Amino acid sequence: MDPSKNPLFTSIEFLKGVGPNRASLLTKELDIRTWNDLIHHFPFRYIDKTQMYSVSDLKQSDVAVQFKATVTRLSITKGKFKRRLTATLRDQTGTIRATWFQGINWVAEKLVEGREYLFFAKASNYKGAISISHPEFEEYTVDKLKSKTLEPVYPSTELLTKTGLESKLKRTLIKQVFSKLKPEHFLDYLGPTYTEKLKLSSHASALYNIHFPKSEEDLQRAQARLKFEELFFLQLGMIFNQQQRKAKLKGAVFAKVGDKFMKYFNEKIPFELTGAQKKVIKEIRNDLGSGIQMNRLLQGDVGSGKTMVALLVMLLANDNGYQACMMAPTEILAQQHYTSIAEQMKGMGIHVGFLSGSVKGKRRAEVLKLLKEGVIHILIGTHALIEDWVVFKQLGVAIIDEQHRFGVAQRAALWSKTEGIAPHILVMTATPIPRTLALTAYGDLEVSTIDELPPGRKPIKTVHMYDTRRVDLNNFIETEIKKGRQVYIVYPLIEESSKLDLQNLEDGYERLLQRFPRPKYQISVVHGKLKAADKESEMQRFVRGETQIMVATTVIEVGVNVPNASVMIIENSERFGLSQLHQLRGRVGRGSEKSYCILMSGYNLSINGKKRLETMVRTQDGFEIAEVDLELRGPGNIEGTQQSGVMDLNLASIVKDQELMIYARNIAKSIIHDDPFLQKDIHIPMHNKLKTMRNYRKNWGRIS
Ligand code: ADP
Ligand code: MG
Repeated sequence: MDPSKNPLFTSIEFLKGVGPNRASLLTKELDIRTWNDLIHHFPFRYIDKTQMYSVSDLKQSDVAVQFKATVTRLSITKGKFKRRLTATLRDQTGTIRATWFQGINWVAEKLVEGREYLFFAKASNYKGAISISHPEFEEYTVDKLKSKTLEPVYPSTELLTKTGLESKLKRTLIKQVFSKLKPEHFLDYLGPTYTEKLKLSSHASALYNIHFPKSEEDLQRAQARLKFEELFFLQLGMIFNQQQRKAKLKGAVFAKVGDKFMKYFNEKIPFELTGAQKKVIKEIRNDLGSGIQMNRLLQGDVGSGKTMVALLVMLLANDNGYQACMMAPTEILAQQHYTSIAEQMKGMGIHVGFLSGSVKGKRRAEVLKLLKEGVIHILIGTHALIEDWVVFKQLGVAIIDEQHRFGVAQRAALWSKTEGIAPHILVMTATPIPRTLALTAYGDLEVSTIDELPPGRKPIKTVHMYDTRRVDLNNFIETEIKKGRQVYIVYPLIEESSKLDLQNLEDGYERLLQRFPRPKYQISVVHGKLKAADKESEMQRFVRGETQIMVATTVIEVGVNVPNASVMIIENSERFGLSQLHQLRGRVGRGSEKSYCILMSGYNLSINGKKRLETMVRTQDGFEIAEVDLELRGPGNIEGTQQSGVMDLNLASIVKDQELMIYARNIAKSIIHDDPFLQKDIHIPMHNKLKTMRNYRKNWGRIS
C-alpha cells in the first residue's frame, strides 16, 4: 500500500480528545507523532482485572487487585495538618477501610454511601489491620464485569500527567486508532509465511493484545511476537551488513600451513594448547582461507592465552609470504610482547622488529627500511604502527591487543595499509562481553571466544575488607613482602578535575612511607599526572623488582605482566566498575605463588556497590562478571553498545531475552544464507524494514 495513503501515518492531532496542544506535548515528551507511534507506545505494566477478589481475601501485596464492595460510611477528618477521607467498604465476606489524603473533594463527590463500586488497589498492613489507600474505583454495573481485562498502564511524564494525558485517556485514544484501522493497514514486515512457520501470532493481533489482553496468555503471545520482531530485525540488519561488507572486501588467502607454523607448533610451544585455543585457531584459519578480509574479535579472559593464538596467526601469514604486525596500547606492553616473541623466534628464521614513539632517528629509519623491503616478518609496537609513514612490503594480518583503546577509525587506518587487499584484522580483548552483547554490539566483527584457562591456574583469593582493618592489611603486606612478593595498591583514577583522588593517593602514599620506611622498603608511584617518561621509569623499577610496592591509579590496568606481584589491593573499590575490578585483579596470579586481591571500602555502600564487591569475591569467571555488569548497568553503559541498535529495543531486553535473541539470530542467519540480498518476494518487506532502521543506515554509510 502507498504509505502516503496509509492512515497509520495520520497525525495524532486529529484524534478525538487530542488537539494541537496535547499532540505537541505527546511529541515533545514521548516522541509520538502518528497513529503508528501511538500504537507502538507500549504499556509497562497491567492491572489485573480478570480476577475478582472478596474483601476477606485481601492480603498485603505488591499487586493491585480488583474487588466489588458497597460504601457503607464516608467521613472526612481534619487532622492537625492534613485532611483525610475515610470510607468503609463492605461485601458479604467482611469490611475494609479505604483512605484518601489527596483529591478528597473529588472523591467525596464521586462516592455515595450505599452504592456499589469496583475498587482496584494494593492492600497493605497498617498496624495489624489490612487497609487500602487511594484505590482506583468506578461505579459497578453488570456489563463492567463482562470486559475483564488486564488493564494497561503506560509510561508517563510529569507534564503529561498534569495535562490529564494519563493511562485512561491513552487507552481510549489507542482504542480509537484500532477501531479506524483495517487489517491491511498494519505493516507486517515479517510476513505471513514466517509468522505461520514460526508459530507466532499475527502482527496486528499482537499489537492489539499488547494493549488490551484478555488474559495472561494473550499477553504472553503478544509479547513473544513483538519481542521476536525487534530482536529479529536487529540481527537481520547486522548480518545483512556483514554480508554486504564481505562481498566487497577481499583479503589475502593464507592457503597453506607452512614450515614456520609447524616448526613452532611442534618444537617450540612448551605446553599443549587448550581446547579453546585450538577451536579459535580453527575459526580464524577458516576466515584466512576464505579470500574475504577477516575482522574478528578474539575475547578471552586475562591469562587465557590469547598471545599464543596471535603468534600462530602471524606465523601463518609469514608462511604464506605476508608480513604481520601486532599493536599494543602502551609502550610497556609492546615491549613485553616484543621481548617474549623475539626470544621465541630465535632459530626460526623470523625477523621480529619493534617500533614505537621511543624508537627514533637512525634506529627508526632502519626499522622502516627493513619493513619496506620485507626483511622484517613480524613488527611489534604501539599505535605508531598505524602512522602513515609506516609502510609494509606486504602486510597480511594486523593483531590489535587489548582492543578497548582502539576504535573503528584505527581499524580503518589499517585497512588502507596495503593496496588492493586489506589486511586481516584480529582484535584481542580481555574484557569479556556477554554473549548477547557480543552478538549485537560488535556488528561489524565476528567473535571468537576462548572460554577456558590453561590448566593448573591457582585461584586468586579475593576478600572484601572495610577500611577499619588497615592495621591487619599492613601486617599482611609486610608478610608478603618478607616472602619476596610484590604488591600493587590501586586508587581510583586521577583526572584533571578530581583533586580528591590525587589527595587520596598522596595521603595513602604518605601513610605507607611511614609504615614501610626507606631504605628497607621501596615504593613506586604511578599516576596520570606524571610525565610519560617518569611513569615509564617508575613502572620499570617495579617490573625489575627494585620496588616492592606499586602505588598507582588504573594506568596499570591493561596487560602488564609482573609474575612476582602476587597481591592486588584496591582502595575505594566501591568506586570501580566490575570490569575494571576484574581487569585489575588479573594483574596478579601470573606466577607460581598464591595470589590475593583485597577490595578495600568504607561501610557506606550502595546496593550496586555491594553487589559488585560480592560478585568479585564470589567468582573469577570474566563472563559471569560481565553478565552481572550488564544486569547492573544496563546495556546503554557498556562499552560499544551505544551505536549498536541495542538501544532501540523497546520490549525486548538483551539481558532477559537472551534465548530469544539467539533464536532470532539463527533465523536471520538462515534467511541471509538463503537470500543474501533479500531480493526474494517474501523477503522484500524485510529489506524495506531494514532501510527504515537507524542502525542499518549508519553502517551502510560507513562501508559504501
Ligand atoms: P592473555 O590472554 O591474558 O593475553 P597470555 O597470552 O599472556 O594471556 O598467556 C598467559 C600465560 O599463559 C602466558 O605465560 C602463556 O605462556 C601461558 N599459556 C598460554 N597458553 C597456554 C597453554 N595452552 N597451556 C599453558 N600455559 C599457556
Ligand atoms: Mg594479553
